[in-house]
Amino acid sequence: MEPQRVRQAMEPGPAVRRRLLLVEDEPSLVLTLSDRLVAEGYDVETAGDGTTALALASGQPFDLILLDVMLPGGSGFDVCRDLRQRGVQVPILMLTARAQVIDRVVGLKLGADDYLTKPFDMMELLARVEALLRRARTPLADALGSYAFGDVVVDFRRAEVTRGGQPLPLAALELKLLRYLVEHRGKVISRDELLDRVWGYDATAQTRTVDVHVASLRQKVEPLPSRPRFILTVHGLGYKFAG
Ligand code: CA
Repeated sequence: MEPQRVRQAMEPGPAVRRRLLLVEDEPSLVLTLSDRLVAEGYDVETAGDGTTALALASGQPFDLILLDVMLPGGSGFDVCRDLRQRGVQVPILMLTARAQVIDRVVGLKLGADDYLTKPFDMMELLARVEALLRRARTPLADALGSYAFGDVVVDFRRAEVTRGGQPLPLAALELKLLRYLVEHRGKVISRDELLDRVWGYDATAQTRTVDVHVASLRQKVEPLPSRPRFILTVHGLGYKFAG
């Protein structure tokens, strides 16, 4: 993930072509959409089913994924969830023929960034794509209104956390720790750095304090706390957030 974030942070000039992955099984729509997107200056790859989409998006960097919900052999929701679980952070715009509110809620909970109901206006689609790409370029701290990993959704502005849609109570310090981990995801963070940045001037805090809070945070957010998938221990160095 790291090379992609660095690239996004560098404010690419007009010559940089953005790579989009279009996941859609309806041939006429694939043709119409990809023609238009290419005409707008995007590079477009297509996938007609979820398995192909997962393989492509896990293996290559894309700037944005347009993801149909109704796909042969599985739903776009599954693709979205699997991508997020694999740590793929690319913006996802979901497309569906179904206009139900529940779909929108499910999609956003699973980590989609936006949602568009078919049939949609081409200009609207282009506007949403541009908006998502713009948002992805803004510094992480500003963009970090909420963040999802696994079945956990953290709303940093409201200081609310849910897991599987249910409220998950976190202590203020746990939330602060989680925020620091998320903001520095993919990087190794030492215990000293966490003490300094999360505990600040609390002189009673020791490296052991960090470990205790990491352990309690794991109990709350990890599917299997004894074998963490998101808050990883980097032996001898500290911790790394892989969500
Ligand atoms: Ca479809």
